[in-house]
This record gives sequence, structure tokens and C-alpha cells, in this order.
Amino acid sequence: MNFEIVLATTNQHKVEEYRTLLSKHGITLYSFKDLNLTLPKVKENGKTFAENATIKALAAAKIVNMPVMADDSGLCLKAYKGFPGLKTARFVTECGNQVKANQKIIEMLKGKDRSATFHCVIVLVNLAKTPLVFEGIAEGSIAKDYDVNEVGFGYDPIFIAKSDGETFFHLGSKRKNEISHRAKACKKLVTTLKVNNLI
Ligand code: IMP
Repeated sequence: MNFEIVLATTNQHKVEEYRTLLSKHGITLYSFKDLNLTLPKVKENGKTFAENATIKALAAAKIVNMPVMADDSGLCLKAYKGFPGLKTARFVTECGNQVKANQKIIEMLKGKDRSATFHCVIVLVNLAKTPLVFEGIAEGSIAKDYDVNEVGFGYDPIFIAKSDGETFFHLGSKRKNEISHRAKACKKLVTTLKVNNLI
């Protein structure tokens, strides 16, 4: 059985990760770009990851008449009561670029608790009457230093997964896709689709 979902993002890293995570369950994922469509711009002014993911998914669902999913994700630092959290993407813009954001976080945590979590909330719409919400959290900590030549997906070079004691960057995509916040949220989504005999 082939189940098709449109992913509302322009982030190619997210497209690649979701495609890997979902294709093994017989789910075909299309990005807006794949469909030659333009993703509507939205104001992410929700108070939670779920609210922001819902805003993105509902805006996209006005354009495509298929199951649509969006995710909102972010890095939460224990020493800063969850900051940057919802502002994780904005933090990169404020710092100037991803390398500066990574360095800033390392500096902010000098002498402090380095515990951190990565959060992902997927919202799937156009399937049930109400949006379906799936959350995944990866536990970890922030590296004390990092090689700026390590350029990957966002904060991957500085986020050390608790389960493996290595950064997402060093673990590589295969292992990251087994333990990440996104992988955990996807597992819940896949379970729901299976229970409803959709895959
Ligand atoms: P948003 O979900 O598109 O709002 O992105 C949130 C921010 O978190 C962006 O700066 C992303 O680069 C970053 N981010 C989200 N997921 C990951 C991940 O799996 N690894 C590293 N950075 C991520």
C-alpha cells in the first residue's frame, strides 16, 4: 500500500530526513518543490511547537488536497529554561549564521549545566477531522567545543545524544535517524497510520 504525504517545508535537511524515515514504511513524501508549488509564508506566532507546526500545516493544506504534514522543532537548553526553544531558527538569524549560533551557545554554557533537549512536533492535516499531533524529544547535552568545518544540519555538530555520547553530526544520518527527536515523532505518526490501516 502506498500512502502519500506532502511535507510543508523548504528545509531540504528535513525533507531528506523525513523521506528516509517514512519511505521504509511505504510512505511517499513530496515537498512543495517536488510538486512545483510555492509554500505559503506564515507568521510562526504560536506559543508552542505544536501551535507553530499547526499554523504551517493548515496554511499548506489550503493549497494541496492531500494529507499534509509540517514540523516545528527546536533546541532547548536546561540552563536557560528552554531557550532558544521556539526561537531556535531566529537565534541563527540573530547570531548571523549557524556557525556563530553554535559558538554562541557553547560560550553561553561555560561553567553551566550543559543538558539540552531537541524537540520535534509533527502535525498532520487533511486526514482526520482535527490535526494529528506527534511529538519526539531527544535527550542530550551541548559539546564544549566543535570544529567549525563540521557543517551539517543546524545544531547537529554541537548536540551530543545522551544515548550515544556523540554529536548528531558525528553519528551520521543512519544512526541519527534511529534516535533523533524527528525519528521519535515519526514512529508515533507511523503507528497511527498503521492502526488505521492506512499503511
Ligand atoms: P524550524 O522547525 O524550521 O522552525 O527550525 C528550528 C531550528 O532548529 C532551525 O534553526 C533548524 O536548523 C534547527 N533544527 C531543527 N531540527 C534540527 C536537527 O535535527 N538538527 C539540527 N538542527 C535542527
